Parts: sequence; C-alpha cells; structure tokens
Amino acid sequence: MLTDLELTQYVDQLSHLKFGQSFRHNAVWNIRLRTTGGRFFPKDGHLDFNPKFADHESLDKIILHELCHYHLYYAHAGYKHEDKDFKMLLKKVGGSRHAPSLSSKKIHYLYMCESCGRSYPRQRKIDTLKYRCGKCRGKLKAIKNAS
Ligand SMILES: [Zn+2]
Ligand SMILES: [Zn+2]
Repeated sequence: MLTDLELTQYVDQLSHLKFGQSFRHNAVWNIRLRTTGGRFFPKDGHLDFNPKFADHESLDKIILHELCHYHLYYAHAGYKHEDKDFKMLLKKVGGSRHAPSLSSKKIHYLYMCESCGRSYPRQRKIDTLKYRCGKCRGKLKAIKNAS
C-alpha cells in the first residue's frame, strides 16, 4: 500500500494529467471510511481515501471523483453531487459515480504511461522494457509493486 505521502503524490500526478492542475493539499488513508471510497473536506482541502480500495483497480476512479469535488470547489463552481458542473466534469475525466464494489478485482501492480498518463492496473508484473502503452506506445512506469 502507498504511504500517505505517496498517495498525495499519486493524486497530484493524476490531477496534472486529467485536470491540468496541481493538487495542493494532503491525501490520507482513513480506516474509518466504511462504504465510501473517498471524501473531500472543503474546510481544509484534504482528501480521505478508504484503504480497502488501496489495491483495487477502481482506486483511480475514486481519486478522480474526489478531485472533481476538489477542483470545482476551488473554482467556485458547483462541486456537489447534484450540481451540473460536478456531473459534467466527472463524466469528462471518467471518475466513479458511486463507491465501487469491493468485490472488484484486486490488483497487485500499477503502471502508468509516462507520456499520456493512462494507468495499467495489473495482477501480474509487467516487463516495462518490453511492454509499452497500448494507446500511445509511451514508456510504462511502475507506480506500485506488490508488497
Ligand atoms: Zn463525492
Ligand atoms: Zn500512453
């Protein structure tokens, strides 16, 4: 599992790729989250994530969902679930609409294309010298390895 610092860096990376903006606050794992995958706190700008989803292929989508709340809030746009701005942005970046089911496939390895940012959650290790991004042929970088 990523540390809180690594998680924050990963969220920032996704934020740059999908929103073209930095994530300037902290992301932390919060074991008290039960059914939700994540939560945004407008008070201090931090994000909580459910560690049960740490090894799931849906983690990216959960992060994108929370980043929609985050960026819209600071843009003074509609940042709540029922807001049109939120629904549109969520659709655009491909975030999850609801907390994904925990029965979804568990992943052990996570790779990201260095050029286009596409992520590759995998159950098995990939030879990054041999395999390239299926979309743009860019180089793959390991974000997370099975521990
Ligand atoms: Zn939400
Ligand atoms: Zn690529």
